[in-house]
Amino acid sequence: MMRYGVDLRRFNTFGLPAVAEQYLPLTDLAQLEGEEFRQAPDLVLGGGSNLLLLEDLPGLTVHVLLSGITWSDGKGRFRVAAGADWNQFVRYTLERGFVGMENLILIPGTVGAAPVQNIGAYGAEVAEFITAVHAWEYGVGPVDLSPADCAFGYRDSRFKREPGRYLITAVSFDLSTPRALKLDYGAIRGELDRLGIEQPTATDVANAVTGIRRSKLPDWFLLGNSGSFFKNPVVARSTYERLLQTHSDLPAYPIDEAHVKLPAGWLIDRAGLRGQGNERVGTYDRQALVLVNRGGACGRDVLDFSKRIQDTVAEQFGVQLEREVQLVGGM
Ligand SMILES: Cc1cc2nc3c(=O)[nH]c(=O)nc-3n(C[C@H](O)[C@H](O)[C@H](O)COP(=O)(O)OP(=O)(O)OC[C@H]3O[C@@H](n4cnc5c(N)ncnc54)[C@H](O)[C@@H]3O)c2cc1C
Repeated sequence: MMRYGVDLRRFNTFGLPAVAEQYLPLTDLAQLEGEEFRQAPDLVLGGGSNLLLLEDLPGLTVHVLLSGITWSDGKGRFRVAAGADWNQFVRYTLERGFVGMENLILIPGTVGAAPVQNIGAYGAEVAEFITAVHAWEYGVGPVDLSPADCAFGYRDSRFKREPGRYLITAVSFDLSTPRALKLDYGAIRGELDRLGIEQPTATDVANAVTGIRRSKLPDWFLLGNSGSFFKNPVVARSTYERLLQTHSDLPAYPIDEAHVKLPAGWLIDRAGLRGQGNERVGTYDRQALVLVNRGGACGRDVLDFSKRIQDTVAEQFGVQLEREVQLVGGM
């Protein structure tokens, strides 16, 4: 049922204040055929863990609360409703013995939002496992999009580039293909060594990733945040080589012959901004890539501080940081 003047503070992990003029929870697919859904929403809201709410939201906010996991074939095919909790789905697959999702454990948010920015962590991306995205296309009706239709990229997809066109209702995954564990990214091997595990299972890797994430990322219940605020910038190899002359310990991940990816957190840290900010907003003292609401911040405070970071990094390294979080309002 439609509600009016709903405070979204508890529906976004940054804990930012914003009032939705019209708020409609979506709990049943049949609702999409109704009058209230005729107009495209101004915001489709999942778990609110990748949003920067800049102001009160005029118009319609649809909160996707569709739930349920269907494991139809007993093998590795799953169809999951868009409002299902991502982390619970990952655990569901691991408990049933499937390999693949372990590196993506503990990412907050919903299954329906996972394709939007092609969530990824520790060398894995959700696009590797998606066979179809089921959506409601405004002005058209129900549609099924293949992975090619979704145009997945690094923290990117068609859904991110065409906001307002699709409401994702469910996602289909295939985990039936045998996969090797991915152990070479970040501190996974180190954490497995620390735990004394030589022949890890997918669950061991999930436990290792859980340990690493808990040590690096703030709990958003205690300190509002939206995870990585910026994408890791992809730069020309020549830029990387120039930077190496003054910063010999600059880490980089190869993308192709001509490009490398630099860790945005390292750049912010080296620009002297880790733990910096003011009484309302700052960078987390254990991970400079995470901006935190220290109490009473509004979206503008976070946006202004993020611009200061972008300017400082651009000045010091000549590298432009691009936001990963989605700005809502104030455009
Ligand atoms: C502590 C922390 C750690 C994080 N770590 C990671 C990480 O390791 N890797 C990573 O990739 N991300 C990470 N994130 C970001 C975030 O968890 C993901 O982007 C997640 O997929 C967002 O899901 P959500 O349901 O909260 O989406 P929301 O924040 O509600 O929405 C995000 C975007 O998706 C759109 N959207 C949401 N649901 C739908 C739908 N059903 N149909 C159409 N559009 C929709 C929204 O309109 C918005 O544009 C982290 C966030 C936090 C707070």
